[in-house]
Amino acid sequence: MKGLSYVQKTAIPYLILLALSLASIAITTSTFFDQFVLTNLEKELISETILAAESLENNPFLTEIDAEAKHLAEITGNRVTIIMADGTVIGESDRSALGMDNHLLRPEVQSAIHGKPEPFIRLSLTMHQRYIYVAAPIYSKQAMIGVVRLARSLESYDATIEKFRGVLILTASISLLIAIIFMILQTSKRFNPLRKISEAIFTSSEGELKTIADKSRHDEIGLLISSHNAQAERINLQIQNLRNERTKLSAILFNMTDGVILVNGQGVVTMINPSAQKLFQTNFQAEKDNTLIEVVRQHQIVDLWQLTLQSGKTQNITIQTSMEKDNVQVIGSLLGPILPGEVLLLFQDLTLLRKLETVRKDFISNISHELRTPLASLKALTETLQNGAINDPKVSGRFLSQMDEEIDNLAQIVTEILELSKIESGKVPLTKKLCTIDELVTRPVERMRMQAERAGINLDSVLDKNLPKIEVDIVRIQQVFVNLIHNAIKFTSPGGTIKVSAALKNQTVQFSIADSGIGIPPTDLKRIFERFYKTDPSRSSSGTGLGLSISKHIIEAHGGEIWVESTLGMGSTFTFSIPIVKTENIFRKP
Ligand code: ADP
Repeated sequence: MKGLSYVQKTAIPYLILLALSLASIAITTSTFFDQFVLTNLEKELISETILAAESLENNPFLTEIDAEAKHLAEITGNRVTIIMADGTVIGESDRSALGMDNHLLRPEVQSAIHGKPEPFIRLSLTMHQRYIYVAAPIYSKQAMIGVVRLARSLESYDATIEKFRGVLILTASISLLIAIIFMILQTSKRFNPLRKISEAIFTSSEGELKTIADKSRHDEIGLLISSHNAQAERINLQIQNLRNERTKLSAILFNMTDGVILVNGQGVVTMINPSAQKLFQTNFQAEKDNTLIEVVRQHQIVDLWQLTLQSGKTQNITIQTSMEKDNVQVIGSLLGPILPGEVLLLFQDLTLLRKLETVRKDFISNISHELRTPLASLKALTETLQNGAINDPKVSGRFLSQMDEEIDNLAQIVTEILELSKIESGKVPLTKKLCTIDELVTRPVERMRMQAERAGINLDSVLDKNLPKIEVDIVRIQQVFVNLIHNAIKFTSPGGTIKVSAALKNQTVQFSIADSGIGIPPTDLKRIFERFYKTDPSRSSSGTGLGLSISKHIIEAHGGEIWVESTLGMGSTFTFSIPIVKTENIFRKP
């Protein structure tokens, strides 16, 4: 029964019961029929034997007895044997009585002698057939003179019974067959919904259970279907939720800037996110069973993993993974009961952060330095005035104008810092307008001409003819011109020249401010546009070091570029380009 289906297990006991019932009905019917026919046969034979015995009472000397036996056999249709009281066979209908053995001890003869004719069934050794025997006493004047025995062959009786049994077996078999077919049809119909439920469970797509559409049933199976559907919907919802969670988690892992590596108790990497792959320049695949050392190729990390595993506590170290990534913090933590034996390694690239930190420190130290110089000279001037110089009108006048200059200097520094911070924050909008190159350049050049003349420098501008109009924030671009011309004046000796020019090149207008000044050392050329950067401080007594940085931001906000070419002692040329095509109207965040 083990390997059978539920349908078979249910149907087979009923079929066995039915087969047993049919068999017992067949046996009972057959036995009853057998008994019934045999009893009738026996009764009939007893009556016929008694009648035969009575008919022989008229023949007290039992003469012509063979003829008598044959006559009786003809009338009754049985075999007739006439036996003397001592057992000698004297008459026989079916053969000669001569030579037949003594019949006294035959049970039917004995029962006749005792006055009780009873039927006996046995195989006749003479006739080789089954016979039913009945014998009755023959009387003459109240004395028994012999016995008449009638025997009827059971051949036709046996054939009838055999036939009857055959019909019974056939009927029972056909009934059983019909019952089997009916049962198969009925049970498969009844159990079809169960099959559908198991199919729905086993043929689930991507883990989701199918629901069953049949809602017409209101019996126990209907109840099972509706509870299956409710269960399936609940499970599907949970699967969906889990899938969403998993997608969210993978998206987080995938997009995390920090590297994540999961290592099992055997040191095999079971998960790695793209940031970690990038950090260790590996295209690791989890199914390859790579060990941690194969993936990261750094013993320090393997040591950290082992320490985390042994101590069960969070551990961290700082390492260098490549030339550029020299400040990577590794944090190892044991995942504990969630994933026993697994260690999560988190890699935080702090290189940029540390660089920004350095920039910030530099900025503060620069700013302090820039502020300290004017403040120190203000302090010295104030103290000198307090110590009596205030009483000397000549000296005090000079000191006050020096103090005024220092205050201007301080104000300039603060203004430029604020300006740069505003521009760097990306919040200052550009107010762009279409203007001619002439309109853009003439004004700042004219503004600076007085200053140049005072310094004994010749300032000139040469603009190409037919230059297109460009769309710029005029005030800001003019501020760049002022910054660059101002620097050129500062670093050019009297008698020198400054030339401002504009020309069309590669869909841009290129502006140049070339001076014949002291020039910039090649080592400083790269850093000149950094905040607060100044070449040899002794050469640039005045200035904050912010002018070029501000100019660079303004030009880049217009989609352009700024660069410098310089030869020490010969002069410098600052060039910037503005594209002719339209650009965004806002400073982009650096
Ligand atoms: P500053 O306010 O000090 O001029 P800038 O950012 O405008 O600040 O300039 C930074 C430094 O670049 C200057 O201190 C100077 O050393 C150098 N520099 C700028 N322009 C010139 C130039 N035309 N010739 C020589 N050196 C220059």
